[in-house]
Amino acid sequence: MAKSPMMQQYDEAKKLSGDALLFFRMGDFYELFHEDAEKAAAAIGLTLTSRDKGENPIPMAGFPHHQLDSYLAQLIQLGYKVAICDQVEDAKKAKGLVKREVTRVVTPGTLTDDALLDPRANNYLAAVARPPGRKRQDAMFGIAWVDLSTGHFYVCEAEASRIVDHLARIAPSECLISDDDEALLQQLGEYNVTKRPDWTFTIDTARERLHNHFSTATMAGFGVDDDSLSLLAAAGAIIDYLNETQKASLDHIDRLIPFRHDSTMEIDQATRRSLELTRSIRDGGRVGSLLGVIDKTVTAMGSRLLAQWLNSPLTSVSEIEHRQAAIGECVSDQKLTGDLRNELREVYDMHRLMSRITTGRASPRDLQYVGRTLKKLPHVKAKLAERKSTLLNQLEAAIDLCPELRAKLEAALVDDCPLAIRDGGVIRAGYDAKLDELRNLAAGGKQWLSEYQQQQQEQTGITSLKLGFNRVFGFYFEVTNANKDKLPEYFIRKQTLKNAERYITPELKEYEEKILSAEEKAKELEYSLFSQLRDVVHESTSQLRATADVLAHLDVICGLAELARTRNYCQPKMTDEVDLQILGGRHPVLDILEPQGTFVPNDTSTDGAERRLLLITGPNMAGKSTFIRQTALITIMAQMGSFVPAEKATVGVADRVFARVGASDELAKGQSTFMVEMTETARILNTASNKSLVILDEIGRGTSTYDGISLAWAICEHLHDTIGARTLFATHYHELTELESIHDGVVNLQVSVKEWNDEIVFLHRIVEGAADKSYGIHVARLAGVPRPVNRRAKQILAKLEAMHQEDGSNGRQSERDRTRQAAERPAEFQLSLFGMEEHPIVDELRAFELNDASPLEAMQQIQRWQAQLAEEAQVKPR
Ligand code: ADP
Repeated sequence: MAKSPMMQQYDEAKKLSGDALLFFRMGDFYELFHEDAEKAAAAIGLTLTSRDKGENPIPMAGFPHHQLDSYLAQLIQLGYKVAICDQVEDAKKAKGLVKREVTRVVTPGTLTDDALLDPRANNYLAAVARPPGRKRQDAMFGIAWVDLSTGHFYVCEAEASRIVDHLARIAPSECLISDDDEALLQQLGEYNVTKRPDWTFTIDTARERLHNHFSTATMAGFGVDDDSLSLLAAAGAIIDYLNETQKASLDHIDRLIPFRHDSTMEIDQATRRSLELTRSIRDGGRVGSLLGVIDKTVTAMGSRLLAQWLNSPLTSVSEIEHRQAAIGECVSDQKLTGDLRNELREVYDMHRLMSRITTGRASPRDLQYVGRTLKKLPHVKAKLAERKSTLLNQLEAAIDLCPELRAKLEAALVDDCPLAIRDGGVIRAGYDAKLDELRNLAAGGKQWLSEYQQQQQEQTGITSLKLGFNRVFGFYFEVTNANKDKLPEYFIRKQTLKNAERYITPELKEYEEKILSAEEKAKELEYSLFSQLRDVVHESTSQLRATADVLAHLDVICGLAELARTRNYCQPKMTDEVDLQILGGRHPVLDILEPQGTFVPNDTSTDGAERRLLLITGPNMAGKSTFIRQTALITIMAQMGSFVPAEKATVGVADRVFARVGASDELAKGQSTFMVEMTETARILNTASNKSLVILDEIGRGTSTYDGISLAWAICEHLHDTIGARTLFATHYHELTELESIHDGVVNLQVSVKEWNDEIVFLHRIVEGAADKSYGIHVARLAGVPRPVNRRAKQILAKLEAMHQEDGSNGRQSERDRTRQAAERPAEFQLSLFGMEEHPIVDELRAFELNDASPLEAMQQIQRWQAQLAEEAQVKPR
């Protein structure tokens, strides 16, 4: 059976949509066919039906067009791409088949619709380009990333081993790679990868695409070297993909920004995850992460910028101080901060508005929001006038009030713009004379009609003469059969009904023409006025985007100031020395999440010399991890320019922060987990410098005890002797505390634990010194483990330690042998751990009748027992 013309149209559109699902507009519905229909039905539960029932039914699924956003959102969230094929001409005017075109392809990395985006998060599309000439192992890869919804476009170079760390920072929703790069595909497994033809990654394509897009012959103006081939290739691949999927202007992507890693702190993927910087480990969400608790911004622009600050802390003391000064000014001037925040609450997301305006998807309301934001600017600018800090002054200067644009928008748009332009009602009366005339005509025409009806009723004497309208012959008069003979001649009959007839008059037709065309023309004119207005806004893209940047910065500064003030943070002193002194430091997340005032502050003091490596011992749940993490988090916060949760702090800038957590015991059963632990540790040992900050939590735990201790020991020594990085090492291996006596730069710290009423209380206080070696046994006793078991454990421990000292040279003896030997003892001490024989005195004690004895008799009995025990102790010494 031959294909219907429409299905041929479908096939053509499908060919242009690549691997995207095709939403094909048919009347008031979007339909999916064939495999697309089956996939969508399975993924989001659309009902599967079929078209051309009979011999070759075609699977089909669809939904009403107004539900587009909702279905699009669901599919995109699942990682699908969707091509939208719309009817591009008015179905009424079409001769034959309606013309249809793929108007855009929506992919997870190229979203611009507010409905599909998280307002507080950037949505990045990334591309990774392999250096040309694959054999050169040392050549750099290029990474480019763009947020189409805001227009920010960045590039950087990266060593092969660092690609995942960069992507961890960027967190792209979609990542482009060449379709013949299997190795890269393996490496980026956890990302939503889109494979692109290899030629889109070539330098020739890149040059062509970039030069077309930016209208420049060289990228040097952006600070990008024209010889950085892989970097350009990545950027070019992005532009190529956007050209192909967007079919709209990309003017808001007006700059290529080279991302400088030499001026930012490096934080690798494992560290980000383990410190829960922007996502919690529990559910990967923002809640419970550092970002979640420090975000006091009031705009989406600010919220996104804060995430960027946190993701890329600075390494230049002066740049950090630049931010600190602005935040400090806002901390001390509460009125300024409060006023600015109030203004900011009423501005709109200018980055995303501008992206919709340049891509031609702005609604009338979007234009109105631009106008309303402009209206706020003079207040903001006035508040910022003559401030002390350079940054606030710079921000003030960067605000362009765009008064003409604002006046135009205010004059043109009605007070409460409708969402869609379709039904008109957008342009204010008095803005355009021609529009006013047409509207008057349309409105006046209705007035004329009712007057004309009345006039005809009087002339004919038929009071029941009705005026009606239908699509076939427009306005008409309706007369009952009883009255039809009274009609004058100029009434022309058009239709006969059962009890009535319908007539038109030449005068009626003449006016009808005017009224209908006036309404139609008014709508058309409104649309073109709206488009002109959109173009005017579009022309101011660069000023408006600069203003958006200012608003975002102000919001972040005010938000951090608000956080600092309400949580009693201090401004850390920044230095280039290898130093870190924190007085009364708190864990920024626990400090906020635990009940107010319950978090116990602690001091951290580490440097490049005598306190290079802090070794923290103490029982589980004592607060070791919390302490070392808070030290890393405070350092990161300080370098993003923020104040920190401490009474006082001096922070020596760290080039990198590393955080690692040892494989936990259950997880460590599979060898791979320990392998991961060691691979990650290896990366620290290979990349940390003496300017780095390293925190290690129970490293070495994922293997047998002696193995673990030995590894941990050697790792500590390497960090201490060779690298000299400031290191905080939390461990339950008290053996490591010996390091302090051997190495100059090692200091033992412990978490103090208090016994109270036979309970153990964690004070969470870090003090100098090594924890009691047998704290495990100690805690076990307090936890209610039977005393004999504890006594026995102590005996074994004492023996083990003695043997350890005696045969320190005998490395061949296995751990099991030692423990067995330690546990061997004379027959009279053979107590089964679980069935210990009671001492005969215990029986006597039970039987002693307290009520029958006088106090003196009781004391005498106790004396006898004591004497007996003392005698036994002499006969059988331990
Ligand atoms: P460890 O690493 O020693 O096993 P953690 O650092 O994980 O112990 O701390 C265990 C729990 O103790 C934390 O979840 C927290 O609730 C509490 N805690 C830790 N440090 C403090 C502190 N300084 N103040 C108050 N509570 C704390």
